[in-house]
Amino acid sequence: MSYSLQDIHQKVRDRERLSAEDGLKLFKSTDILAIGKMAQAVRERMHGRRAFYAVNLHLNPTNICSTRCVFCAFSRDVSSPDAYAMTLDEIEQKVRGALERFQINEVHMVGGHNPALGLDYYLEMIRRIRGLEPKLYIKAFSAPEIDDLAKRSGLLRVDILRQLKEAGLNGMPGGGAEIFDPGVRREICPDKISAEEWIGIHRTAHELGLKTNATMLYGHRENEEHRVAHLLRLRNLQDETQGFCAFVPLAYQGGPAPFSKKKAPDPLTSGFLDLKVLSIARLLLDNIPHIKAHGSATDLKFVQVALSFGADDAGGTNLHEKVLHEAGSRSPEGLSSDDLVRCIKDAGYDPCQVDSSYQWREIQGA
Ligand code: SF4
Repeated sequence: MSYSLQDIHQKVRDRERLSAEDGLKLFKSTDILAIGKMAQAVRERMHGRRAFYAVNLHLNPTNICSTRCVFCAFSRDVSSPDAYAMTLDEIEQKVRGALERFQINEVHMVGGHNPALGLDYYLEMIRRIRGLEPKLYIKAFSAPEIDDLAKRSGLLRVDILRQLKEAGLNGMPGGGAEIFDPGVRREICPDKISAEEWIGIHRTAHELGLKTNATMLYGHRENEEHRVAHLLRLRNLQDETQGFCAFVPLAYQGGPAPFSKKKAPDPLTSGFLDLKVLSIARLLLDNIPHIKAHGSATDLKFVQVALSFGADDAGGTNLHEKVLHEAGSRSPEGLSSDDLVRCIKDAGYDPCQVDSSYQWREIQGA
């Protein structure tokens, strides 16, 4: 291990907060085992041998989107032959089916910015899902969707969030953060809300008592400085609000982005970088409780290794996940609870089923 990594290791042992410079040193290092060992020490200090997972349904109510992010392979123009918008009855039927067949404990829902779907549609959707099962954790709407609804309805973002919460929303996913650097943001998602707006919407959600996740899309145009700055901005907001439950790094998948006018970036990620991002996130984000290895963005073999490199959350069953799969993710589309439990146990960890609030229970016989 180089001298600089030994310095960082000492800080980790002393529970001292790492700096931006430390983060950069970690990203520039190729000593993945040393980085993983430090992250693992922190992970075990926080969670022991527990590994969390959810039995969840992914719902993407519409793929029609008026925002054209260069990297997005999911969104469609309204005139596209495979453009869709689900009816409220279809959504209700899917959730009811998943409750009956798979005993899901969570719904995760994100979609495009569809000008034809107003606030009433989303409020009624949340009310109907809530009506099916009072204990179901409903995690829905990325920050850009909240902004889009606010702009189209003429309401303040805080009022949109308040109404959704009253309808039964429990929390928000972390999508739309992409990478906070304004230059990279201009290249990959010029029409999306700014980093400041994304942070402001999550701050408002936290103030209203909605817990949220945070993400970072990496492996495209960004560099190591951008990644470190992104992680530290999340850490700063968490110092203020304590509202983030988990950080979810998202590896850019590439894949076709058929409606973007600009060429989508080539994916730059690798197993090596994926592990480094997870481990470094665990080390820098000392105030965010959970680090999730997203099974839909990678695969279960990777998730097993990730559990020993700082990640404590193996993700969810992700039934019907579309956004990452349309971008080319080769992970299985929808896992069973047994698949996840086996994956976690085979890797030497104790499976704990949770929803995004991380209220957990041990699995009998685990
Ligand atoms: S990433 Fe989201 S906002 Fe951007 S084009 Fe895709 S669906 Fe629309």
